[in-house]
Amino acid sequence: MTTFPQPFTSTVSHWQATNRGKSSLFNHNRDKKLPTDVVDYVVIGAGMAGASMAYHLTRPGIADGKKVVVLEAKDVASGATGRNGGHCAPYSFGAWTHLTTPLEEGGAGLTPQETLEVLDLEKRVLEYVTETIEKEKWEVDFWRGEKLEVRRTEIAATQMELSYAAWIEARSASRLKDVKPEWEWIADAAEAQRISRIKGATGCSKGPAGSLHPHKLATAFLKSALATGQADLYSWSPVQKMTKNGEGIWDVDCGERGTLKTKEVIVCTNAHTGSLFKGTDIDEYLTPFQGQAANVTPPPSYSGAAYLNNTYTIEDGPYLVATPHAGIVLGLHHKLAVDTGILEAKDVFGNADDSFVHPNAKAWLANYCKDSFADWGKEAPGEGGMRFWAGIQCATKNTLPLVGQVPGERYKGIWIAAGFHGHGMARIALTTKYLAKLVTTGKWDAGLPLSFKITTQRLEDGKKAPPYITDADKVGGVLGKVLGGLGYGGGVKSVAR
Ligand SMILES: Cc1cc2nc3c(=O)[nH]c(=O)nc-3n(C[C@H](O)[C@H](O)[C@H](O)COP(=O)(O)OP(=O)(O)OC[C@H]3O[C@@H](n4cnc5c(N)ncnc54)[C@H](O)[C@@H]3O)c2cc1C
Repeated sequence: MTTFPQPFTSTVSHWQATNRGKSSLFNHNRDKKLPTDVVDYVVIGAGMAGASMAYHLTRPGIADGKKVVVLEAKDVASGATGRNGGHCAPYSFGAWTHLTTPLEEGGAGLTPQETLEVLDLEKRVLEYVTETIEKEKWEVDFWRGEKLEVRRTEIAATQMELSYAAWIEARSASRLKDVKPEWEWIADAAEAQRISRIKGATGCSKGPAGSLHPHKLATAFLKSALATGQADLYSWSPVQKMTKNGEGIWDVDCGERGTLKTKEVIVCTNAHTGSLFKGTDIDEYLTPFQGQAANVTPPPSYSGAAYLNNTYTIEDGPYLVATPHAGIVLGLHHKLAVDTGILEAKDVFGNADDSFVHPNAKAWLANYCKDSFADWGKEAPGEGGMRFWAGIQCATKNTLPLVGQVPGERYKGIWIAAGFHGHGMARIALTTKYLAKLVTTGKWDAGLPLSFKITTQRLEDGKKAPPYITDADKVGGVLGKVLGGLGYGGGVKSVAR
């Protein structure tokens, strides 16, 4: 459980460090008094979800003349958004197994058709983000190309082949039957090694992806919202609680910053959502977890014409992007970290502290490129791992976000978009567009997968999912492993890479 103000000083990411100029929104309205009138919409959180929500609410024809206030506990994109891997990349067919595995076994428990809808949303998010950045002329270091999902064992390559076949078969029985598949599977190991430059690759998929500067993108969404005159942002305004105050009005309590009155609240607080719904099924449905990432300056062997051509996820390696000018950003996937013993489950799940990077994670991130990319060569002082940071993500029971009107009469006027499970850049930009439509018209857009909808039943079903962290995990070390072996441990859920 996280509460604000936080009792620690967060690490600073590559993205947060490289968006400090006059045009950034650091400290925006930090000392300005909160409005005293009743505002129409309060958005809590200024990460990708809150920033894009403010943008969508302020587009012409959506909520004309209505006032939107964004309340942020710290600065813009101080949460996961400003600390992520910069990858805006849809899942491929590689996610098939995880999305269709039953909830009780740690998967999302979707039918093949529901799975196709989730994958299709992610593909459309990349298209939408591309179009919006171009239309708005935002400078967010955007790159558009292809992601390689590299497998390094025979078993994982075979699994990918099976998933590819299942995906193609499901498409042939769906509305997508005449749409050309956007992913290919390269089963030839030599070819996979050639295009990926990863030693020992056994196969790889290739499909659409983007990378971008997430701190600049969240800032751009917010600045466009502010420019309409309809929206305002108050940073360093941590919401402590929301209380119903008579008919149709909510008091949003920001502690020392004061209280704001509003008709509708949109909660975009991701990993920190539990503290606003303490002791409820929403609190139980969400688990904060720490992620770690780094910025690596490549040596000349991987610079200029020899720079990486693709973004990556790698079976026993990181997720990785090559920024246009500032080198590589790579992250350590939580499942790999725990399964291979780089970190213990208790270091990851339930850890809402982004003030440190565990030395094991730091060493792994520092060494990955030089150990794994063919002919990387020697790193000069100032090359290799330069900056390391942590960020807090939000796991959900079925790995899908909670979106919509919070169920129950007592929550009328409270909406949510949270629980992006470490994969929000591929989902948020359109999810919030559809949520803005739902909030303003009451209509669920067919483009938003129904599997994302927050319902009482979904929250109840979540109780059947295996926990992310068990009492044995919390003990950790050898004793934890012994208890785990005796059936007290949970193991890390399988998620797509
Ligand atoms: C290391 C790392 C790597 C990642 N890599 C990728 C990637 O490559 N691709 C990808 O798709 N996803 C990635 N993710 C996940 C992605 O960053 C998240 O899914 C996404 O940013 C979530 O956005 P959000 O707006 O929901 O949450 P956040 O960005 O966490 O924003 C929530 C905001 O709410 C504020 N807040 C919380 N509580 C309160 C309160 N009570 N009052 C006021 N404000 C509050 C927080 O301060 C924060 O700014 C990564 C995450 C991490 C940490």
